[in-house]
Amino acid sequence: MAPLVLRTVAETVAWAESIRRSGRRLALVPTMGYLHEGHVSLMREGRRRADVVAASIFVNPTQFGPKEDLSRYPRDLEGDLAKCASAGVEAVFAPVPAEVYPPGYQTYVDVEQVSQGLCGARRPGHFRGVATVVTKLLCIFKPQLALFGEKDYQQLQVIRALERDLNLGVEIIGMPTVREPDGLAMSSRNAYLSPEDRQRALALSRGLAAAQALYRSGTRETSALVGAARRELEAAGLREDYVELVDATSLTPLPAIGPGQTARMLVAAFAGTTRLIDNQPIGG
Ligand code: AMP
Repeated sequence: MAPLVLRTVAETVAWAESIRRSGRRLALVPTMGYLHEGHVSLMREGRRRADVVAASIFVNPTQFGPKEDLSRYPRDLEGDLAKCASAGVEAVFAPVPAEVYPPGYQTYVDVEQVSQGLCGARRPGHFRGVATVVTKLLCIFKPQLALFGEKDYQQLQVIRALERDLNLGVEIIGMPTVREPDGLAMSSRNAYLSPEDRQRALALSRGLAAAQALYRSGTRETSALVGAARRELEAAGLREDYVELVDATSLTPLPAIGPGQTARMLVAAFAGTTRLIDNQPIGG
């Protein structure tokens, strides 16, 4: 069945309240639309874990820098609603920006440590925008659970921290990255890639796999593990934004992987003008 499309905060609050009053558990999947199998996997898991799933489709202006791709971010509400329907989503909140940030809007959420490095260092203000909109969505829907992808690994840690620090009482579920058959992490931004850049973009997942293979062969030093990933980016002609090995929870850089340590490698690189990210646990 086609999902109910909610355009205003007031009708969304009322709808979510009616779900709560009926005693049903609500799961929320926040997105920026142009949906793919990665988004759909979150919706399906929401269906498994809750009675009702809602999604939001909102290209959030506060998380884009002045020189980023806000105006050309891909959009397809019709197609998105069909995918939501097939994933069992009952309602979709699809507001215009002025509904979320009306005149006089002045409140922002800053998650300090975990927002600082990696994408946070390269995209000033990005995680402030993400944390603000996610906090608002959690306040509007008051869901029992909300699902996010590990594809945006730093974002997931930012959201875990804000939920904990603000005592929002929402279960945050992190879901594995869904990939194309050749390994490329699914992303709405893959639509920007020329056929040549699409091929080059495989170097991100290949680089992470190379680092993991080196770990398995006994290497523990970050410089060597990062070097293995970096070589793949260079060989493919991608411009590196960063390659870092960090503690999987705090996201602080690690000089080496110690025994029992949960480490994660995160990579960001430009294929042409398109910035792509990917990440993977290293070790285990
Ligand atoms: P976005 O529309 O890019 O803001 O993403 C909305 C949600 O879908 C976020 O929680 C993302 O982490 C998640 N997501 C995006 N791509 C993938 C993917 N390839 N696999 C799993 N989750 C994803």
